[in-house]
Amino acid sequence: MATGNINVSVENIFPLIKKFLYSDHEIFLRELISNATDATLKMNHLVRIGESKIDIGQPKIEIKIDKDNQTLHIIDEGVGMTKDEVEKYINEVAFSGAEEFLEKYKDSDAKDTGIIGHFGLGFYSAFMVANKVEIKTKSWKDEPAAHWTCEGTTEFTLEEGDKLERGTEIVLHINDDEKEFLEEHRINELLIKYNKFMQVPIKFGTKEK
Ligand code: ADP
Ligand code: MG
Repeated sequence: MATGNINVSVENIFPLIKKFLYSDHEIFLRELISNATDATLKMNHLVRIGESKIDIGQPKIEIKIDKDNQTLHIIDEGVGMTKDEVEKYINEVAFSGAEEFLEKYKDSDAKDTGIIGHFGLGFYSAFMVANKVEIKTKSWKDEPAAHWTCEGTTEFTLEEGDKLERGTEIVLHINDDEKEFLEEHRINELLIKYNKFMQVPIKFGTKEK
């Protein structure tokens, strides 16, 4: 298992994400669905150009609420990520975006809801509503699954995972004061609001035990 420290110079990114988007926590769902959509469309493309011979059928994105465990799950059947790709795209690239973000907005009070996405921080908006985020992912390439966990500090763990199906599951351990995002009607409301981002069918229902 690898453990690491993301980058001390950006250790304030999580409080900042909260500060800037305080009034608009709900956009985390739009960001995660947009990532799931990107990954799915990339997979479709790989099949179309013959790079992958996998029979992918009609890929969907699934959203599940698990009230007992206080978790929200966003699951796609897209390209997934290898361990190296998690390292690169989640730990390195996103945090270089964070540095740029801090530099530009450290003295500002702006509450531009588009800010986070512009800095390649879409994924990290998950920490507006979750105290712990897991990525369980299996690449379309023939490589082992990866499991990344981060509790909203600059430390993370990255180890081999046990996911068998291709794609990515984002697990959000929802904060006590954000429990509205464990309510079906609230998620439904957001799915309606963000439906223009949805180029891939979304399945949504309470997680079965
Ligand atoms: P952006 O989407 O602007 O690139 P994000 O912070 O939203 O920035 O995501 C960072 C990167 O993490 C993505 O570019 C992608 O490489 C990877 N990623 C995030 N979510 C997924 C996913 N569901 N499936 C595959 N890769 C993902
Ligand atoms: Mg994104």
